[in-house]
Amino acid sequence: MTTRSETQTTLTHLLTEIEHRNPAQPEFHQAAHEVLETLAPVVAARPEYAEPGLIERLVEPERQVIFRVPWQDDQGRVHVNRGFRVEFNSALGPYKGGLRFHPSVNLGVIKFLGFEQIFKNALTGLGIGGGKGGSDFDPHGRSDAEVMRFCQSFMTELYRHIGEHTDVPAGDIGVGGREIGYLFGQYRRITNRWEAGVLTGKGQGWGGSLIRPEATGYGNVLFAAAMMRERGEDLEGQTAVVSGSGNVAIYTIEKLAALGANAITCSDSSGYVVDEKGIDLDLLKQIKEIERGRVDAYAERRGASARFVAGGSVWDVPADLALPSATQNELNEADAETLIRNGVKAVSEGANMPTTPEAVHLLQKAGVAFGPGKAANAGGVAVSALEMAQNHARTAWTAQRVEEELASIMTSIHSTCHDTAERYGAPGDYVTGANIAGFERVADAMLAQGVI
Ligand code: GLU
Repeated sequence: MTTRSETQTTLTHLLTEIEHRNPAQPEFHQAAHEVLETLAPVVAARPEYAEPGLIERLVEPERQVIFRVPWQDDQGRVHVNRGFRVEFNSALGPYKGGLRFHPSVNLGVIKFLGFEQIFKNALTGLGIGGGKGGSDFDPHGRSDAEVMRFCQSFMTELYRHIGEHTDVPAGDIGVGGREIGYLFGQYRRITNRWEAGVLTGKGQGWGGSLIRPEATGYGNVLFAAAMMRERGEDLEGQTAVVSGSGNVAIYTIEKLAALGANAITCSDSSGYVVDEKGIDLDLLKQIKEIERGRVDAYAERRGASARFVAGGSVWDVPADLALPSATQNELNEADAETLIRNGVKAVSEGANMPTTPEAVHLLQKAGVAFGPGKAANAGGVAVSALEMAQNHARTAWTAQRVEEELASIMTSIHSTCHDTAERYGAPGDYVTGANIAGFERVADAMLAQGVI
């Protein structure tokens, strides 16, 4: 029987090796550290997990595809972007995970997202493996025609790697309903197949699931509500700071309002908006989803209750709850200190890895309930899996049915994380609970399926 500290030494050694084998991928290193640093109790307690090669296989993607994406802008100039698809782990089902179009995308970013996705997808309890993809293409300021040509070029390579039983992409930052439409159209054209289950996040009327656009934000609020219930509180009357202004932020704000809380902020890379009356969702949706504008326009049009703060940190705004819903590493140590000083009760991650490790540590030490993204934002991919189920059955569920399924999945993820943390001596630590519970499910399947 190995002790916890011997196991920790082995895991630490492995982390050093991961850094050497994957140079210049700081986000992937961060994600690997975050998981491996919490696994010692379960690996020490269950000798099969210490089997040589198991964790080494888990941190090595099954397949990584990198490709050229050439496209022409409206003036006829040729641009060359880089496309990625990392098929990380398929022990539990077809690779599943979004595509991100953002200038910051590189292999390390996609690997961090793909690695997170393995555990997140495992936590949903559904049959989906982990993958992620994207491109360093920046859709901001591009016309619909340019975005369409880019998506068509991207899919002209990607189509050969994906399929409803193989790998099922969806959206992420920079990839919403418009992009999924163009990608699906090109896939259908090249393959001559109506293969609805090859992409999720499709439009209503051609295979999309009701509630998929809302699912990540709604799910995160349900997770935050479950954490608050553990503290004997609910969301009624709580104020919330939300970062971001994309799909996740918008439906986070919507669900908070539905449960009686008041979301008073949103943000983008130019700054943030504080609206003392609570964010007016119709206005925000109009600016972001229809006009594809920036949040300063919100403050301009909203009137006296709202102001725009250029630059600055949304986490400076005092609130009971914080729901980071923008991007990785957007909430750092100094932000955590400010939130704690302002009496925050819970932080729940709508984005992937938005809180730096130092900030997570501070929040947990201060007794703030902390919901890690791989648990708290799993509602999006869970409803993607429900979309796949509907596609395979050639049927469409009602919004009510999808919402009920989502609520029950989020409740079960919360209790799995909660109970697992307790079982391994870390009560209240949802990070440990999520990592161990996700790991157990994937590791058991990998062990059963042999060394592949
Ligand atoms: N991009 C989302 C995530 O980070 C959703 C992925 C999906 O629906 O496949 O989980």
